[in-house]
Amino acid sequence: MQEPHPQRSTEAVLISEVGPRDGLQSVKATMPTHHKRAWIDALVAAGVQEIEVASFVPARLLPQMADAAEVARHALTHPGVCVMALVPNLKGAEAALHAGVHKLTMPVSASEAHSLANVRKTREQMIEEVRAIARLRDEIAPTVKLEAGISTAFGCTLQGAVAEDDVIWLAEACVKAGADESGLSDTTGMANPAQVKRLFTRLRRSLGSQAGAAHMHNTRGLGLANCLAAYEAGVRTFDASLGGLGGCPYAPGASGNVVTEDLVFMFEAMGIETGIDLARLLAARLPLSAGLPHEPLYGMTPEAGLPKGWQPASSRQAGLPS
Ligand code: ZN
Repeated sequence: MQEPHPQRSTEAVLISEVGPRDGLQSVKATMPTHHKRAWIDALVAAGVQEIEVASFVPARLLPQMADAAEVARHALTHPGVCVMALVPNLKGAEAALHAGVHKLTMPVSASEAHSLANVRKTREQMIEEVRAIARLRDEIAPTVKLEAGISTAFGCTLQGAVAEDDVIWLAEACVKAGADESGLSDTTGMANPAQVKRLFTRLRRSLGSQAGAAHMHNTRGLGLANCLAAYEAGVRTFDASLGGLGGCPYAPGASGNVVTEDLVFMFEAMGIETGIDLARLLAARLPLSAGLPHEPLYGMTPEAGLPKGWQPASSRQAGLPS
């Protein structure tokens, strides 16, 4: 298998596009498969190196994801792109592994109330599910990476505050159960930058290189500030969604992933390489709109456009004339 991520500098970030999964699962309309393929192609053309392409759930629960295997297989035709899939349980993991994805991401809720409402399992039962998935992965596709995404890590619309000790305990337990990494998700858009910095600092102290991605939502307008706080805590992988599509269907009032276009703009403007061409990324909104014509898209950078004399981080570091 091709190594999905070539060597990156310690300053550079990896932006993982989750729109085809997190975004699409939150909207009522179903995007036709050929539009999903065109959208993924446009993301790859913009330089996106990791894409969460689908969620492997029963079609009766999420008809938007009925074509998950087909979409994954299409994404796999792009060499060098890490193809990720969300799997809610062992059954989904089995289907995703058979589809040939490079990476599985399994959401594990830090809030007991959210876990019971969302998957009708306790957190301890979810740790056992991670263990079962890791075992299956070892058996049939040992090169596939498994990430546990600790959801509701910064608060929960059902239970309110989530104890930080619980979050760290759960992230550690998932790694001990066989996950390659544990990341933290602000599923309900309740995080603030001080909390993000504190919790990711603790996570990285505890898990080292097995500390995973920051998955931030923009529900209260703090998506970018929270990503920057995570960056300052040493995080280098960020989930984001083109046009800010997404949210969580099981967490009422939680809408809007951090907007990929705005996140790329922020990092590139700071001189931090994303590997993504912002103009081409903006163009990737076209196939997204074509496939979901009635869905509103968000983002400040797409509205304002690129500033005069815009220079991405790579051109500045290479010392190219302006
Ligand atoms: Zn999300």
